[in-house]
Amino acid sequence: MSERKVDFLIVGSGIAGLSFALKAAKLGKVLIVTKSNEDESNTKYAQGGVAVVTDHTDSFEKHIQDTLIAGDGLCNPQVVENVIKEGPARIDELIAYGTSFDREDSGSYDLAKEGGHSAHRILHYKDITGYEIERALLEKIHQEPNIEILTHYFAVDLITQHHLGKHVDKKSVDTACYGIYAFNTFTNNVEKFLAKVTLMATGGAGHVYSSTTNPTIATGDGIAMVYRAKGKVRNMEFIQFHPTALYNPSEYPAFLISEAVRGFGGILRRCNGESFMEEYDERGSLAPRDIVARAIDSEMKRSGLDYVYLDITHRNKADLLSHFPNIYEKCLSIGLDMTKDFIPVTPAAHYLCGGILVDEFGASSIANLYACGECASTGLHGANRLASNSLLEAAVYAHRIFLDAEAKFSALTYQEAVPDWDDSNTKLSNEDILVTHNLRETQKFMSDYVGIVRSDFRLDRAMRRLGLLHEETESFYKRTRLSVKLCELRNVIQVAYLVVKSAMNRKESRGLHFTTDYLQHAEQLEDTIL
Ligand code: FAD
Repeated sequence: MSERKVDFLIVGSGIAGLSFALKAAKLGKVLIVTKSNEDESNTKYAQGGVAVVTDHTDSFEKHIQDTLIAGDGLCNPQVVENVIKEGPARIDELIAYGTSFDREDSGSYDLAKEGGHSAHRILHYKDITGYEIERALLEKIHQEPNIEILTHYFAVDLITQHHLGKHVDKKSVDTACYGIYAFNTFTNNVEKFLAKVTLMATGGAGHVYSSTTNPTIATGDGIAMVYRAKGKVRNMEFIQFHPTALYNPSEYPAFLISEAVRGFGGILRRCNGESFMEEYDERGSLAPRDIVARAIDSEMKRSGLDYVYLDITHRNKADLLSHFPNIYEKCLSIGLDMTKDFIPVTPAAHYLCGGILVDEFGASSIANLYACGECASTGLHGANRLASNSLLEAAVYAHRIFLDAEAKFSALTYQEAVPDWDDSNTKLSNEDILVTHNLRETQKFMSDYVGIVRSDFRLDRAMRRLGLLHEETESFYKRTRLSVKLCELRNVIQVAYLVVKSAMNRKESRGLHFTTDYLQHAEQLEDTIL
């Protein structure tokens, strides 16, 4: 079996993994393993932009307050302050790496506004900000001799003391990460990667649900791996459903109609053309995402339709084309002219607020393992993420992790005598239908029972089904040669379990977790840690 040793091993090539790689390369050899093409990531599809204070009419205090309000009491205030105050320096770095953000004729940034923000503060590049960031980071990475990227390698499991034959459980205080086993999709073999420092930067988990804005890579792999390795995860019940994915039943994943469209004056309307958001929240169509998503869910249940409309036809055509060229083209491709037609929209799973529990320097509960970006739970988002705070969080934490790793690096060594991956008792599968069926079934009941509106009854039903699917899939996994689809199914089921279990533990409605059985906040403010 092949064994590689690197100073820094990074799983994932979105903003989190790439930003950290560029910094870590100053200290040693960096290897990035990523499961698809190098640019395939949630990052690439981010549209709206990066929330950061750059304008004299705005202030850190306002951005902090907006973030805390959205988080509904569960943000860590110190983390919020750190991220927001350190944001401008990290954005300067992104610009120095070659990222462009739109400017007005005067030369100042063209700042957009999104739901829950009290100021125009979103830096953006047209409506393809994530694509621009990913492009610039990758170009910079390619110039860096200390960084190597292996594409189409799927990280399967963390290597810990468990693989040396020692007992590891949730109570073990000395669990350490020695690297990962990764599946080489060209050879269909599992390879061993040993590292002094490992970073999980595997992104979100939208594909736990049947309707999502996330690309297909978002199957929660990093979170599942860390939980299996007995690491801690936090607040997994807080799944953000984006209120306005384009309603187009033939398309999967769903195309996002950025919140910036509502920031630009877009109005949500019933099918008869009435505006309805004022009936739910005084901020109207620009209320925070959870409120808008629940309002749309309720309107859809009332009308029996699968969508409501977003109307931006009152804005000038030239402005719409310059701000939203990508959205305009997409709508046109399905016969909708957004300058004249209402856009049908529906909520879709979009962002995971919880994830791998990390401290203020991105360190997980497992030694030598950090987590950054959407797979991490830093405490910034609390019970609900403020729009456009996630790219910012990833950039800030990549730097914080670098500072921590730099301080510890010289004392770190490689673990010796790590065994090869053992697949001796497995056979090639001729039953892929089990994998596709179980995936669809999980996504379907997660959408039906563990979506925008939850109840004890629905969570119970979801948990019972998960139990059966978990048992079936684990038994299939133990006797079958690995495939990416099988590993992803296993991870989706694992993450679905974490979402349902966390939702069951939270006996209140807060932020993105809304349950008809406990409509109020609980007296005690608590994180859910599993
Ligand atoms: P990602 O960018 O998702 O990267 C994860 C990487 O890990 C990928 O390279 C993936 O292939 C790799 N990977 C995953 N599992 C494995 C495995 N098992 N083995 C190997 N590699 C693996 N946020 C904002 O702040 N502003 C916005 O305007 C915005 N708009 C968005 C629009 C859309 C449509 C979507 C989907 C998200 C949006 N977000 C936005 C959220 C934001 O894009 C993400 O939270 C952020 O990009 C996550 O970055 P990341 O580096 O953590 O993960």
